[in-house]
This record gives sequence, structure tokens and C-alpha cells, in this order.
Amino acid sequence: MPELPEVQGLVDFLAGRVVGRVVTDVELGSIAVLKTFDPPPDSLVGRPVDGAARHGKFIDLDVDGTHLVFHLARAGWLRFSEKLPTTPVRPGKSPIALRVRLDDESGFDLTEAGTKKGLAAYVVTDPQDVPAIASLGPDPLAADFTREVFGEILAGRRTQIKGLLRNQGTIAGVGNAYSDEILHAAKLSPFAIADKLTPDQVDTLYAVLREILQAAVEHSAGKPAAELKDAKRKGMAVHGRTGEPCPVCGDTVHEVSFADSALQYCPTCQTGGKPLADRRMSRLLK
Ligand SMILES: [Zn+2]
Repeated sequence: MPELPEVQGLVDFLAGRVVGRVVTDVELGSIAVLKTFDPPPDSLVGRPVDGAARHGKFIDLDVDGTHLVFHLARAGWLRFSEKLPTTPVRPGKSPIALRVRLDDESGFDLTEAGTKKGLAAYVVTDPQDVPAIASLGPDPLAADFTREVFGEILAGRRTQIKGLLRNQGTIAGVGNAYSDEILHAAKLSPFAIADKLTPDQVDTLYAVLREILQAAVEHSAGKPAAELKDAKRKGMAVHGRTGEPCPVCGDTVHEVSFADSALQYCPTCQTGGKPLADRRMSRLLK
């Protein structure tokens, strides 16, 4: 799933290509992807794209005061084309869920692979009309996201730090991959309790949270949409690297698997050398 840095990369990419163009058509390949009905998607047609913005992991295109907002979820992606095929999208016949055509024959498709559909699009007069945007926590790269703000978020929270970092209502834009990376760099167990961290640990966590996201944003900058996924994967130290050596200490990267996701961590760096319990991992190491 694209997280803050990749979504920012997509926003910057779109800003350079679609802002200033006029929407000539919006085609739906999947009715289910559109979560709103008023204003209708046709209301975007004939109007210019004035801006592209990010809210957490949401992308927001301002089309002459009406907003096309979308969230790529786990298997969604954006595919830009300088010259879109002229044949209309056939509903249900391709991974294309939504296509936006622009007045220079370019445009983009929102695609989704797999059967678990999470891709969501909204046409709204105000991005805050999207409930999941209205409930977002602060953006961790915003200038006013200070050490004090972060400390207040953690104070009194008797929850595991991994879950807290991923909670969009607490901090906007961090998901499973970057929370693994941030906790690895901060040398914290994913299961550490937020409220129990020492002031020094909070200092470190705050610093690496901003550093890792900022570095990934810079790494994403200027890359075409098609390359962002690979760029993300290559930049990971532990996430998605079960069984590989930790780049910091050489220990084997471990994982804890859940019903529909897994987290990765380094025991030497993060849990005092003690592996966390996981059935799948113990099978793997036998
Ligand atoms: Zn390590």
C-alpha cells in the first residue's frame, strides 16, 4: 500500500501533468469504487484541474472547486498515460476502476489488482466531506508537528506503538511498511507500550519518524508513478525482508504474522535479542 512518501510522490507527479488541463471525461470501470453520488462525476467534465494535494494517504485533485479524492488502499495504483486509448473503459472487464481523460489526450487510470477491493474515490465539494479525511490525525511532516505534539499523542496511550503509528486518526500517512522502518531505526519493539516509553525514547522516535518519512519523500520526488512502488521496496531495511540480514547488525530479520498482514523487525536491534512469538517464523527457522 502506498504510504505518505509514495502518495506525496504521486501528488507531485500529478501536479506536473494534470494541473492546468481540462477534464474531458470520467469513466467508471467499477461502480463500487465511487463512494459518493452528489456531485456526480460528470460534474467534473469541462472544468480545469487547479491543484493536487495530499491528506494522509488520500490524493485530492481540485477540479475548479469540486474535488476528486481517492485512496489507493492495498492493491490500488495510479497509471498515467500521455495518450490514453480512445476505447471506453468496459465496466467489470479490466482492473481499471476509474479513468480520467484530459484535453490533450492524456489522463490516468486508477487500477486495482486482486479480489480484496479497497480502492475508493469520492467527488465532493470539500475534502473534509470524506469522513476518513475529517478524522485524520496531524501530518507528521507538517511544521507544527513538534516533539511536544508527538509527546502529547503518546501520553496516556496504553497501546502498542506499532498500532499507534499506523492509526490514521492518530498520525496521518504512516502504514505497515514505514512503521516497521521507523521502529527499527528507533530500536524499539513493535509491541512497546506508547505510554511506557522514556523521554529519550520519545525523542529518538520523533526524530527518526520525521527523518525516515522526509528521506522517503525526497527519494520519491520526481519519480514517475510507475517507479514509485519499486523505489519504496528498495529503500526498506526490515519491512518485507523476513529472513534477510539486518543492514545494521547482521541478525536475521524476523516477522510476526497476523490474519491479513505481517510485521518485520530485527531482534538484536529492537527486542534485546529475543524473538517475538510467531508460529510461521518458528517454522521458517527450523
Ligand atoms: Zn539489527
